[in-house]
Amino acid sequence: MSNKPAVTDTTPENFIEAIISKDLSEGNVPKVITRFPPEPNGYLHIGHAKAICLNFGLAESFNGECNLRFDDTNPAKENQDYIDAIQEDVRWLGFTWAGNVRYASDYFDQFYAWALHLINNGDAYVCHLSPSESSEYRGWATTPGKDSPYRSRSVAENLELIESMRAGEFDEGACVLRAKIDMASSNMNLRDPILYRIRKEIHHQTGDKWCIYPSYDFAHGQEDAIEGVTHSICTLEFADHRPLYNWFIEHLPVPATPHQYEFGRLHLNYTITSKRKLKLLVDEEHVVGWDDPRMPTIAGMRRRGYSAKALRNFCQSLAVAKTDGIVDVAQLEFFIREDLNENAPRAMCVLDPVKIVINNFEQYISESVQSMTAACHPNNAAMGDRTLPFTRELYIDRADFSEDTSLSRKKFKRLVMGEYVRLRSAYVIKAEAVTKNSDGSIDFISASLVPNTVGDNPPEGIKPRGVIHWVSASEGEQAEIRLYKRLFDHESPDGGDGEVTDHLTPDSMTVLNDCWIEPGLAYASPETAFQFEREGYFVADRWEHSSTRPVFNLTIGLRDSK
Ligand code: ATP
Ligand code: MG
Repeated sequence: MSNKPAVTDTTPENFIEAIISKDLSEGNVPKVITRFPPEPNGYLHIGHAKAICLNFGLAESFNGECNLRFDDTNPAKENQDYIDAIQEDVRWLGFTWAGNVRYASDYFDQFYAWALHLINNGDAYVCHLSPSESSEYRGWATTPGKDSPYRSRSVAENLELIESMRAGEFDEGACVLRAKIDMASSNMNLRDPILYRIRKEIHHQTGDKWCIYPSYDFAHGQEDAIEGVTHSICTLEFADHRPLYNWFIEHLPVPATPHQYEFGRLHLNYTITSKRKLKLLVDEEHVVGWDDPRMPTIAGMRRRGYSAKALRNFCQSLAVAKTDGIVDVAQLEFFIREDLNENAPRAMCVLDPVKIVINNFEQYISESVQSMTAACHPNNAAMGDRTLPFTRELYIDRADFSEDTSLSRKKFKRLVMGEYVRLRSAYVIKAEAVTKNSDGSIDFISASLVPNTVGDNPPEGIKPRGVIHWVSASEGEQAEIRLYKRLFDHESPDGGDGEVTDHLTPDSMTVLNDCWIEPGLAYASPETAFQFEREGYFVADRWEHSSTRPVFNLTIGLRDSK
């Protein structure tokens, strides 16, 4: 039996890897089969990314297989858009599922047959208690429940009733099928849980074939059994459900016996990881859709400019533990920056432009444009060079100029009236004068260039304060830049009382319309990331960027502000 070691680097084996290694070496399983089982009721978020990386990652490192299976037992909340988006997210993260996409609904006939099997063995019954009666009968964690008056129905009667339920003869909520387990169990999940409920909904996969649908608990473990999943990995909140899943496995003629292992959910501070609450943000239009770059959805983070690799690296860095913990969002941001610093080409963009006119341009440059050359990456020559057109009129950032000559050289390493600064990859220039608008704002700055300073030091006595970025006013392109802040200004937006919407950062998106980019950037393919020098990392918007209307999103600042 081939059995690749779980880890090739120095990361210690996590507890699930240890279990799998042992199962393989002892021959308990011939081949590892895992699955990622989302319910298609929303887009996937960063927490799902952890589960995806874990399940697909285990299959990869142990030469096994991982299924993608939609747990589609609740048609009222599910739809095809979510199914499509989830598949795209998994693929984008870099994973391939085994065979076709699977659906819990593929097995509805089998589940129904198994429901009949339980009824025939006296292990299930149709119950007519109303929801409020049911919860009263269920008891509390510390007090036992009591048996439903319908619990002792005959097999024949139950068979007839389930057929009527299936045939649509009852209204929604009129009755349910329950397992007959133990109303006094200390585990509430074993107090005669619901197996089937009536839902007169059209299902996205099965259409109008069914009007009764299995509960998640009745379906989940059996789906794994049907697919021969060897290690059913889920989050901690399902630990209490494990005895129930095992009960089903023991009471049904299932083809395989999966084992469930639970790990801690990912909680990130300043972030929410609940599809229901993310959906609320979309529905109430606090964000512009599920893939808004501020959303912690995989699609949102993608549009924000996070690479799949950076997200995988982050997921890999997370503990796979038997406890829940809160992870600092700075840990995620570390991996985003690390990846971009290494892989994003450098470019120049002026976010808040003020014009500079080089008065002595014609004196030294005979053409209207001088082509400057700049490296695309300071530490990676393989990324090549780019050409920057240098012209008589340029833009620099308003914040990079001051008329205040008393500013210390140490504190203000930019352009000051009467002093020198270097334009990145171009000349040293000197600010000579400013022309103002009637409201007192600067219309343009007059400057002079110091000849022979491209790639060369200026003559003795000329000391530029620093290096600033610039874009040609005539050759550069105007762009829309979207700046983002954290969506929530509270460390645990869904922690305390109140709504998550109480903690939304008021101005988490700012759209700047008059930004200037070096001309080549207009032709960047959507989703290409850049470091705009001195400003941060930006990405060409996946949907809206084009050469005629460049649009870039702020991915992340250059440094952690903490
Ligand atoms: P949500 O509460 O956001 O709806 P969910 O658990 O109901 O999440 P599912 O579609 O059922 O969503 O999740 C699919 C898989 O992803 C499950 O196995 C679940 O355990 C896992 N998962 C969901 N959220 C997280 C998280 N925050 N961290 C790790 N795994 C998660
Ligand atoms: Mg779930």
